[in-house]
This record gives sequence, C-alpha cells and structure tokens, in this order.
Amino acid sequence: MTFTLPAPLGAPVEDGAPPAAGVRPQAPDMITFAGHAAARLRRTDAVLYELLNREAARQNSTLMMVAASSVADPSVLACGGSTLGNLTAEGYPGGRYHAGCSVADEIERLAIERACAAFSAQDAIVQPHSGSSANLAVLTALLAPGDTLLGLDLDCGGHLTHGSPASVSGRYYNAVGYRLTPEGLLDYDRIRDLALAHRPKLIVCGASAYPRSIDFARFREIADETNAYLLADISHIAGLVAAGLHPSPVDHAHITTTSTYKQLYGPRGGLILLGRDARKSGPERGTLASTMRRAVFPFTQGTPDLASVAAKARALDFVAGPEFAELAKRLADGAQAIAERLSERGLRLVTGGTDTHMVLIDLRPAGLTGDVAEQALESCGIVVNRNRVPGDTTPVRTTAGLRLGSNTLAARGMDRNAAGECADLVADVLDALRAGSGVLPAEARAAARARVDGLCARHPLPGYLS
Ligand SMILES: *Cc1c(COP(=O)(O)O)cnc(C)c1O
Repeated sequence: MTFTLPAPLGAPVEDGAPPAAGVRPQAPDMITFAGHAAARLRRTDAVLYELLNREAARQNSTLMMVAASSVADPSVLACGGSTLGNLTAEGYPGGRYHAGCSVADEIERLAIERACAAFSAQDAIVQPHSGSSANLAVLTALLAPGDTLLGLDLDCGGHLTHGSPASVSGRYYNAVGYRLTPEGLLDYDRIRDLALAHRPKLIVCGASAYPRSIDFARFREIADETNAYLLADISHIAGLVAAGLHPSPVDHAHITTTSTYKQLYGPRGGLILLGRDARKSGPERGTLASTMRRAVFPFTQGTPDLASVAAKARALDFVAGPEFAELAKRLADGAQAIAERLSERGLRLVTGGTDTHMVLIDLRPAGLTGDVAEQALESCGIVVNRNRVPGDTTPVRTTAGLRLGSNTLAARGMDRNAAGECADLVADVLDALRAGSGVLPAEARAAARARVDGLCARHPLPGYLS
C-alpha cells in the first residue's frame, strides 16, 4: 500500500487546479485514510505515536488473562478510529436533534438489529458509553433517590454499580447487599429472604467475579414474588450467553445490560437489551423499552459515539456468526483446562472450578497475596488481576486472590492444551515466588518469559499482522 506523507495540520491540500463547480470533492477510502492518519500522527506527535506502538507491542507479546478483557478484531478497531467520531447525532434514529444524520441512522439501526439477533432480544439500546453508564441509566429510570435495590456485594464479586457505597449506586439509593455461601456460591433462598425483608424496587443479578453459572429464572421468581424489577448484568458472560453456552437472562430479566469490550470482543461501551417485557408498561409513561431509551438519552447521556456504535455493530455481527460459536466453545474449554491444571498443581480455586471463562484462585493456602502474585506474573509477561475472594480480610489493594480469564487466549486460537500450558506457567511462577519467599528469582522469570514468548509467537493475535 502506498500513501503520501501528510500535509501539515490545517494546510490546504495541493492538487492543482480547483475542481469545476458541481464536482463533489473526493474523500479517501477507509484504507487510504487509516494509513494517512497514522502517518500524520507519527509526523505531528512522535511522543504519542511511540506510546501507541509500544502498547501494540505489549499486547502482542503478553499472555492477557485478565477476565474482564478481550481483544477486538482490527475491523472493530477500524470502526472506532473512523470519521464517525466526527458525527454529532443527539437523539435516536429517525428523531435526531441535528441534521446530517442519515448515515448515523442506518448505522445505529444496523447495530440494534444485530444486537437483537445476537441475543434473541426484542429491543436494544446501543448508545451507552459503557457498562457502568448502562447500569446507571437503568437505576435512575427505575428508582427514585432513597429507593431500595438489592445487589451482590462488591467484595463477593459484585460490581461497583450494583450498590457499592463507592458508587452513586450505593450513595443515592438504599443498597442492600447479598453475599455468597462459604463455598462462594449464590444462595437463592437467602436472596429471597432478603428480598422479602427489604422489598427492593430493583434486584440486580450478575457479577464481575463469579465463576459459576447464574440461575436467572430463579432470580425472576424472586423478583415476581416480591414485586421487584430484575436487572441482569451479563458484562462478563455475554459471549457465552450469545453462544448458548450459558442460559440467557434476556427473557427472564426485565432488563439486561452488558459491557461490549469483554466477552463480545467489541469496543469499549455498553448495551441494554430487552426481552419479553420490552413492550410492557414502564414505571411511568410508555413501555419499558421506551423508558430505557429515555433513561440513556436525555436522562444520563448526551450525544452517542457513532464510531463506537459502528464498532458494536461490527462485533455483534461476528458474535451472531458461525465462527463465534467455535470461539465461545474454545474459551469455555480453555477455562476448564486452566481450572483443572491449577487444581492439579495444588492451588485452591473459589468454588473448586468454573462454568464460565473465569477462574478465581484463593491464594491464602499458598501463603501469597494477590498484589505480589500479580506483579510477579506481569514481570514474566502474564497479565492477570488481583481480586478479593470470599472471606477476604486483606486490604482492597492487596487481596488474597487472583482472577484469570480465557477470552484472549481463545481469540489467539489456543485450545485446551495451550490453555493448560498457560495455567502451568502461572503455577510455575507462583511456586517459584513461594520458594523465593515472595521474591521471584531471576532465572524463574527468564524461563517463564521465554515460554510466554513462544506461546505468543505460536498463537499470534488474530488478524493483527496480516
Ligand atoms: C465490567 C463490568 C461493568 C462495567 O463496565 P464498564 O464498561 O467498564 O463501565 C458492569 N457490570 C459488571 C458486572 C462488570 O463486570
């Protein structure tokens, strides 16, 4: 591919004689534009250009095992970096508050259609800027300040937006938390008791650190019995849900939300999905679906990011396609293999295993803390995150656990064997760390780093280099 070096910022393009009247100026096609844009960045901002290149290299050469992350296809990133970022399109398709939105309308309608297809949903809102924004829109639409909501406690694996006092969800509402059994499992009878005792207007299910499947039908029974709305937040497991490898909440919950950059391999952003209750009445005027649309805009957001909406459309098309079924199977198998291998290597797992992409290690029997383990692994090119585990009494930045996920390993094409090898590597590093009394010996680090390099070379990021 060839492209000319960019003109300085703001300089007119020199191309000879002015075009004849009535001839529209040509825009570069996307491929020319992307190369031109990158060359322009290199020329005008070498500092940032170098940082972006360093980050790309880091992603390529590390084993990303953070359960909350994944890797988007370059076609998704292309949408995110496109001229759609210039579009100001306040409102919804067919009802914008600005002119110039005909392409925006087509793109947003396509994203909605694809979201509905991927999740067998009746309706979808694709504008939330993030999973947190989607949740806060739902909360503000259904609850008045001071109303009661029931959600999983943050230190049991819940999310900040499910009622944590560190978030408006716990500050402006009367948040009651449910906890886990000593084995780390949801206790549905106890949740029902709490719902009967506190009469929440909204029950939130879904989690950020829960490796087992969630019984959404049971949650809906509890919500119906106590006359509450049910919000299912599937941010972590949305891909397994779309692939049919985890039961779907879309027709059980009144409202389902998800982040798009985790298991949907999409851009940063959020989605709101509605199932069989979409056209039922909302709490005030209109249907539940129209209530949720108003909750996003104008209640909690302004203009949508059409580049992100297009990137969601791209990711959702992939999620609804046949290749994704294989990827989802591979990531579920990978997590199983990781759980099995870590257990064989003597590590204690919260709940003893996993039904999802996620494995939680309880480091207490190993005499390690999450912060030390996370740093040692990162120094070898293995990226995980420290996480609290049930009964954890360590400070939040220390933690007694590690959370691992298989999303990116699966996207790199790693099968059970390769995922098991990654787990062995993690166990080797933790063993060496214990042997070194919390300091990783240099030889152990070098050996692990070499194996990481080998795995990354054998399993390149999909579509990034060719
Ligand atoms: C990650 C996550 C979110 C927040 O998503 P952001 O897009 O990062 O704001 C919400 N809920 C759960 C359960 C999550 O795990």
